[in-house]
Amino acid sequence: MFIELTACIKVIRPDSRAVFPYSNSLYIDGERQTLIDAGSGRVYQHLPPEKIETLLFSHYHFDHVHGWPYFSQAQFMAGEEERWAFEDETEYHLSAGYQYWEELMGQKKSMNWNRTAELPDDVLVKPGFQPIALAGTFKDGDRLDMGQSYCVALHTPGHTPGHYSFYFPEEKILFAGDLDLSPRGPWYGGAYSDFDDLLQSVERLIQLNPDVLVSSHRRVFEGDVRPLLRQYIDIALERERKILQFLDQPRTFREIMSLDLSVPGDGSEHELFWNRMMIKKHLERFCKHEWIYKREDGCYVRYKEG
Ligand SMILES: [Zn+2]
Repeated sequence: MFIELTACIKVIRPDSRAVFPYSNSLYIDGERQTLIDAGSGRVYQHLPPEKIETLLFSHYHFDHVHGWPYFSQAQFMAGEEERWAFEDETEYHLSAGYQYWEELMGQKKSMNWNRTAELPDDVLVKPGFQPIALAGTFKDGDRLDMGQSYCVALHTPGHTPGHYSFYFPEEKILFAGDLDLSPRGPWYGGAYSDFDDLLQSVERLIQLNPDVLVSSHRRVFEGDVRPLLRQYIDIALERERKILQFLDQPRTFREIMSLDLSVPGDGSEHELFWNRMMIKKHLERFCKHEWIYKREDGCYVRYKEG
C-alpha cells in the first residue's frame, strides 16, 4: 500500500504487517527517484524499479535491506559509520552480539543462527551478511537532493552505530527508521548498540518536532509526536530504573541477568537474549557514568550517594 504524504513523498507499507522481516519504506517520486529502505516485500512490484536512482539505507538490519535485489540499477548509500556492515562479514556477525550468548544465556548457542526457515517468498535474500556494493555514504547533516524535494540525513545512533533518520524540512516530514515508536520501546540489544547514544538520538527527534513521523514498523503519526517519543524512550528508562533499584544491594551478574524486564512478546530464546543484552547495555552505562562499579568478587555495587 502507498500512502501519499505529498505529491512526491509516499510511504510504502508492506502487504503484511510491517514487522520482521518487513518494514515500511519511503518513496520520493521526484526528479531523482529515491527510496529509503528496502524491506517492504512484494509491494515493490508497483514501482518502476529501473527508475529508482538512489536507495538510502537507514541502517543495515535485514528487515530494512532485503529488498535490494529489486533495485539492482540503483545507487546504494548508507551512513558512513556503517559501511563495514555491507563489506565486512566478520564485523557483521560480531555486531549481532552472539559472542555473548554463552555468558548471558548460560549455554552455547544452538547453530540455527538465522530465522531462515519460513521466510515469505517475497523476501528475496536470506538473512545474514549482504555484501552490497555501496555507491557512497552520507554523514550527519548531508543534504540529499531529489529534485522537487530534499532531505537532511540525521545521524541517530543507539539502535545501531550508523542508524540514520531522514528529515524533509520543507514538508516537516521525518522518516525515523527504527526509532519506531514501538509499544515495546526501543531496541538496543546489538553488540554495538549504545544507550547513551539512543537517549540523545530520541531527544534530537523531540527537538526537531516534525509534523509527520514515519517509522519503520508502525503507522504514520501526525500532529505533535513529542509526547509519543517521550513515552517511547520512557519504556527503556523505566527498565533502567528497575535495574538500578535492584542494585540497592550488591548483585552478581547472574542475579541481574535473571531480571525479567522484557515487554511480553513471542517468548523466544532470542527475545530473552536481547532482553539480557539490553540489561548488559545498562550495566555498561552505569559503570561508564560511575553510578556502579564491579567489585573484585564480580558483584555489581552502587556507589554511595552524596
Ligand atoms: Zn533495526
